[in-house]
Amino acid sequence: MILILDCDNTLYPASANVMEVNDVRIQRYIREVMGFPPEVAEEKRLGYLRQYGTTLGGLMAEEQVDPEEFLAYVHNYELDGRVAFNPALAQFLRELDLPRVILTSACEAHARKVTAALGITECFEHIYDLKAVDYRGKPERYAYERVLRDYPGEKAVFVDDRMLNLPPAKDLGIINVWVNEGWLPARGEVTPALSVFYEEAKRLQERAGEFADFTIQRVEQLADLWPQVQAKAAGR
Ligand SMILES: [Mg+2]
Repeated sequence: MILILDCDNTLYPASANVMEVNDVRIQRYIREVMGFPPEVAEEKRLGYLRQYGTTLGGLMAEEQVDPEEFLAYVHNYELDGRVAFNPALAQFLRELDLPRVILTSACEAHARKVTAALGITECFEHIYDLKAVDYRGKPERYAYERVLRDYPGEKAVFVDDRMLNLPPAKDLGIINVWVNEGWLPARGEVTPALSVFYEEAKRLQERAGEFADFTIQRVEQLADLWPQVQAKAAGR
């Protein structure tokens, strides 16, 4: 068996609101590095998010943006205590006797920053960042297949907060654990980009039963859930 974990809003709660920082930096990249006026930048971003699932997906396909440059710029910030040591998660991961990997659409440096803050850096055998999946990140089926290729014959368990990322995994016979904290930022903090994610979440949540084998609110609840996950993996 192999455990595949998403990074952002999964390893730490969405209410840490790290994505708010990401969001601001993505907007700044399109305005300041690419030079688009604010209204055009916003419109492009929302269009790409809706059409490609991520802003970068659209920027690569339509604007020939270098993904490494984009990711280095966007993730160039400190977590400033937003993500803290999680002893329950650390204990669960350390005691788990199977390969644990991260599959993220961020860059490896960002994932390492997060795992360092959580105190779980040594728990992972591999971090599959966007580059490691040849820039064909979730929800592209290729990303999941790329990970599975390294663990032939292993039953996989996938943990992610974004419902959009679950259907391709389900299709590949992976056991899905959905992390749904149920948190929403205050109305005044919902940027247009964040609202695209919420629209998507609302739309897909009704179909949660189809895609999610299990639902938890916080990643450390995996510890209590684990016997059930193992039973499911064993076909019981
Ligand atoms: Mg996530």
